Amino acid sequence: MTETPSFRSDITVELVKHSASDTDVLWAARVSTAGEQSLDEIGKDPERSKGLLNFLMRDRHGSPFEHNSMTFLITAPIFVFREFHRHRVGWSYNEESGRYRQLEPVFYVPGPDRKLVQRGRPGKYEFVPGTDEQHVVVGKVMEESYRQAYAAYQEMLAAGVAREVARAVLPVGLFSSMYATCNARSLMHFLGLRTRDERATVPTFPQREIEMVGERMEEEWSRLMPLTHAAFNANGRIAP
Ligand SMILES: Cc1cc2nc3c(=O)[nH]c(=O)nc-3n(C[C@H](O)[C@H](O)[C@H](O)COP(=O)(O)OP(=O)(O)OC[C@H]3O[C@@H](n4cnc5c(N)ncnc54)[C@H](O)[C@@H]3O)c2cc1C
Repeated sequence: MTETPSFRSDITVELVKHSASDTDVLWAARVSTAGEQSLDEIGKDPERSKGLLNFLMRDRHGSPFEHNSMTFLITAPIFVFREFHRHRVGWSYNEESGRYRQLEPVFYVPGPDRKLVQRGRPGKYEFVPGTDEQHVVVGKVMEESYRQAYAAYQEMLAAGVAREVARAVLPVGLFSSMYATCNARSLMHFLGLRTRDERATVPTFPQREIEMVGERMEEEWSRLMPLTHAAFNANGRIAP
């Protein structure tokens, strides 16, 4: 591993495994009326299928959206995972360990597009772009601070201190990685809270970095379940 700190402003999301399609939802919904013949019904009438998905979304019949699975490998700063792990229902997580391995010195610095200045009151924030000077200050101060923290971490490791003790000095801007597995229903709940979209009927004010993760997950999901995704958007982006 490299011991020299590096800095990045992007996050990565990779869909590593999936079993998820619109027909999974239709199958689950139709079993309540068609019983074991429900599989034959799927695909017979696409418009009816679209209508059924829309009805389920609109009336918040949520359980048919749970019979599918998506596993993502996400690389993002620790502060993103702190927010992410608040999503308890329909999610499974495994994150890299700071006890069993030395943590790599990769740190988050906001990119030039990241709005830096916050205005307004809690619950009604607006973010506006930072000046060039502010971007320079943020980059310089963060990098200095990260270098100092990582040097302190290394000093303790070199002195024979356990990784789980030495890691206390590392900041939440350190990158981590995790597997996150969800289903369409739990993902929709996440997206409704962690992404901003003009089609949403309930406003939300997520931190930009977790929103970046949400946007990437949504791209992957929309390819797997385009009709479900369309129905989510058409019904105000509220999870059923
Ligand atoms: C913009 C924003 C700002 C936030 N700010 C803060 C903050 O300042 N401080 C802070 O601590 N958190 C904050 N959060 C986290 C937030 O309070 C939730 O913990 C997080 O969004 C997960 O939502 P959830 O509980 O609905 O999700 P999940 O845990 O996935 O739960 C899904 C749903 O299951 C049901 N449910 C789950 N657990 C229970 C339970 N124990 N009892 C009853 N019903 C349950 C609820 O209907 C819930 O909506 C913020 C979230 C957002 C989006």
